[in-house]
Amino acid sequence: MTMVIKESDVPETSAPGQPQVINCRNLVGGQWQNSSGPQRQIISPHTGALIGHVPMSSVAEVAAVATAAAAAAPGWRRMTTKERSVPLFRWRELVLANLDSLALTAASESGKTLAEARAGILKGVEVAEFALSLQNLDAGGAMEVSQGVTCQIQRQPLGVVAGIAPFNFPAMVPLWMIPIALTLGNCFILKPSEKVPLTSQRLGDLFIAAGYPAGVFSIINGAKETVETLISRPEVQAVGFVGSTPAALSVYKLATSLGKRALALGGAKNQVILVPDADPDFSVRGIVDSYTGCAGQRCMAASLLIAVGNVDDLISRIVKTSASLKLGRDHGMGALIDAAAKERILAIIDRAEKAGAKIILDGRKATPPAGCSGGHWLAPTIIDHAKPDMECATTEIFGPVLTIVRVPDLSAAIALEHASPFGNATSVFTSSGHVARTVIEQATSGMIGINIGVPVPREPFSFGGTKASKFGHGDITGESSLDFWSHLIKVTSKWSGTAASNWMS
Ligand code: NAD
Repeated sequence: MTMVIKESDVPETSAPGQPQVINCRNLVGGQWQNSSGPQRQIISPHTGALIGHVPMSSVAEVAAVATAAAAAAPGWRRMTTKERSVPLFRWRELVLANLDSLALTAASESGKTLAEARAGILKGVEVAEFALSLQNLDAGGAMEVSQGVTCQIQRQPLGVVAGIAPFNFPAMVPLWMIPIALTLGNCFILKPSEKVPLTSQRLGDLFIAAGYPAGVFSIINGAKETVETLISRPEVQAVGFVGSTPAALSVYKLATSLGKRALALGGAKNQVILVPDADPDFSVRGIVDSYTGCAGQRCMAASLLIAVGNVDDLISRIVKTSASLKLGRDHGMGALIDAAAKERILAIIDRAEKAGAKIILDGRKATPPAGCSGGHWLAPTIIDHAKPDMECATTEIFGPVLTIVRVPDLSAAIALEHASPFGNATSVFTSSGHVARTVIEQATSGMIGINIGVPVPREPFSFGGTKASKFGHGDITGESSLDFWSHLIKVTSKWSGTAASNWMS
């Protein structure tokens, strides 16, 4: 029977009748350890209730986790990909058996709805399934390059690697990195977001229960200082980072200045180009889902609508559909991560209004769902007639806010797309193959959507943007991630006495 990990396996300090309060620990050398560092509170975005504490780990604690991971590295590296896949099969079963309670934890700390939290975990499971395919597919390659001389490539792990995650996907983003990096033979240290560390505690339990050797998967809690200490540890060979652009750039610079490999995914301001020939049902649903899903706290949210020509009818339908969305913990649209995020977003909407844009749907006075008056709620908001250089049209708002800029034609839409400093995603809604092809050929983003508002590639296709949305080469998932989490060594062999001898051999 598959084991179900109970919430009660995690230490808690809550009074009877109150929400469970989880005290996060570090996972060091296969053991959960309390940190002596200062603690921060974890507040439920849904209700405002205290749900946990997370430590800011000390320099010595970061050293301890890195040392334990380095001690595990030689044994893990020696295993074959097939052997390293065995615990991942078990882990996948455990995640699926614990899906509901994992989703509850992820939703309660991130403000997502339960359905969104489940979807994020299942996306992580897909990455694990891709990693599980490597045992059969990642065979390397060999060729007899001249008589009796064979060249062969072999993938080798880097050693100890680190992954730093943002708040908006407590399970999915860590799982973009962990299964692939582990299966390729690395020991992985996760630094979860200090805003949503609870899901990682649950995932850590499942990695232990799945039978990963001690030190192969570790967790260190903390914030910016912890990240910088971790990157600077000599044991850490590579850093995968996902978060805001300023932090991504800072991590990329620090890691590469130390001669380490870094792939740092940053923020976004994704454009959706709407042309008059777009299918009304398809485009309205796709655009509303994209900017309101996860309350707009998605790096793939289409938050800038570039309206080409007269699409007033479609815009009216977008407003109507958005206005009908209900706020909720289980269904509908979830909450913003914290009070600071809400304050920041409200200020951006106010400034857009003062600058002359029109608020055609105003979510600022939203009534929170029942029992959630202490949470951080904002209903869908649409800002129309924004000028291309306004703050609301150029900066990442990271909330359920759609900014509309009107342009006369497709070339003006493409010019606006080119001007964005970000390059995560660009979508177009059209029934014209020519328009779709023009966007594919000319847009600058790394992920392009044709009649889809959230163009997230599924495995084996890889996830990653361009420009200020990604620093480093390759992508964080899929085939393109394999070269990031490994070295390719090249072996040239000559055994036969009849081998040709020339200047190359
Ligand atoms: P954030 O940058 O504040 O934090 C992300 C992680 O980095 C956290 O673990 C945090 O502790 C750490 N951190 C913060 N500042 C740091 C610094 N200066 N140096 C080193 N580490 C630092 O991001 P967030 O608010 O948690 O997440 C939202 C952001 O992440 C948005 O900008 C969103 O677009 C982006 N994001 C991008 C992708 C992508 O694939 N491109 C995916 C998800 C989220």
